[in-house]
Amino acid sequence: METEKKIIGRCPLCGGNVVKTCKGYRCEHNIGDSPSCVLNINAIIGNRKMADAEVAELLEKRRILLDGFASKEGKAFPTVLELADDGNILMQPVIGRCPHCGGEIRVGSRAFNCSNYANQNAPCSFAIWRNIGGHQLTLEEAKEICEKGITSSELEMYREDGSIYRKRLGVSPDKLQIVKI
Ligand SMILES: [Zn+2]
Ligand SMILES: [Zn+2]
Repeated sequence: METEKKIIGRCPLCGGNVVKTCKGYRCEHNIGDSPSCVLNINAIIGNRKMADAEVAELLEKRRILLDGFASKEGKAFPTVLELADDGNILMQPVIGRCPHCGGEIRVGSRAFNCSNYANQNAPCSFAIWRNIGGHQLTLEEAKEICEKGITSSELEMYREDGSIYRKRLGVSPDKLQIVKI
């Protein structure tokens, strides 16, 4: 008799099915006495419960931005979870390089911030708000702004009266502001 399993997605390491278990998510080839795969994702990461849909997205994209992780002291923080080639799950808050000063851009709860914002010798105020005009920026869009200086497509944003407009987001000529183009 075939046992019923909940398939969450495809294993990026071996191509097998990733199934939901009592402790999290596991590749079907990482079950039994001589497993050929190592993929095993805990249901709790950084004191945060993973949702099935988030694990499915992590398997597909390998890097996803999530809020609501908590430090031992109970302080909430966002980060980018990365599914590494060896199957480990890494927290990687750096999403790119600052267009203004070359520092690291890190994801914060309200903005993607330059790591040199408090640098006394060369402070940098570059930041990308995570919510612009009612649009919640994705990790990919923030990376595009850092790497190419502009999003590849127009984003849907909203005025105070609810009317919709679409603009690309890019870096100003002085590379300090985010502008709608
Ligand atoms: Zn696998
Ligand atoms: Zn900077």
